[in-house]
Amino acid sequence: MSADRPRPLVAGNWKMHGLKSSVQVLHALAVGYPPELKAKVDLLVCPPATLIHAFALQAHGSDIAIGAQDAHAEASGAYTGNVSAEMLADLGATHVIVGHSERRAYHRETDAEVRAKAEAARRAGLTAIVCVGETREERESERALDVVRAQMRGSVPEGMDASRLMIAYEPVWAIGTGLTPTPADVAEVHTLIREEAGTLVGAAEQGRVRILYGGSVKPANAKELLAVENVDGALVGGASLVATDFLGIARAYLD
Ligand code: PEP
Repeated sequence: MSADRPRPLVAGNWKMHGLKSSVQVLHALAVGYPPELKAKVDLLVCPPATLIHAFALQAHGSDIAIGAQDAHAEASGAYTGNVSAEMLADLGATHVIVGHSERRAYHRETDAEVRAKAEAARRAGLTAIVCVGETREERESERALDVVRAQMRGSVPEGMDASRLMIAYEPVWAIGTGLTPTPADVAEVHTLIREEAGTLVGAAEQGRVRILYGGSVKPANAKELLAVENVDGALVGGASLVATDFLGIARAYLD
């Protein structure tokens, strides 16, 4: 990692998993996050909104950040069932994932909506983790780069503070499947994302945007994926629910 590159970050997306008792997982993470690991990599856990407050209290003093998985674009209003970025910040969240492929698919979220959510994150002082990534069909028809470029241009607001913006490259076909792209394919997409980030935050700042890889990251493949150029960390789904697996991924940075 060169001097001007961001510190790596391993983030866990718990999706719709976890009950109050799951706070014990956070305790195990804190115990397994000693100074030598803290020196190498940041940790972030994004539980369901119901657990953010309890997790933020439990994480206090551990250097583990707590984030959310989605936010409404508006700060408040008649939006039954929704949660705003301001509310998440009030609970202790410091980050929010926006535009995850499951939200794009099941909630029909468009690039414009994802961009509005990233704006909401900025307004509330949260770091936005904007997800992009192609489907299997798009990869097989060699459109992956075009799709990711279009998602970057449509989903990421201009002029974000580079230190408060992360992009997660998550090929849809790799999420929860055990399949992963080759390191060369990851490198190709992350290089494109870095270039596109430059037009959004400015060439001088583009190196500060963290670009995470997500999709079937496990302790067994973490070292190879995290060593790829322009990969500044991982967004982890299934493996983030088990403390030893999540820490096993972070420990890829130890040597
Ligand atoms: C995700 O959903 O963000 C993800 C990367 O899932 P998994 O690690 O389970 O593939």
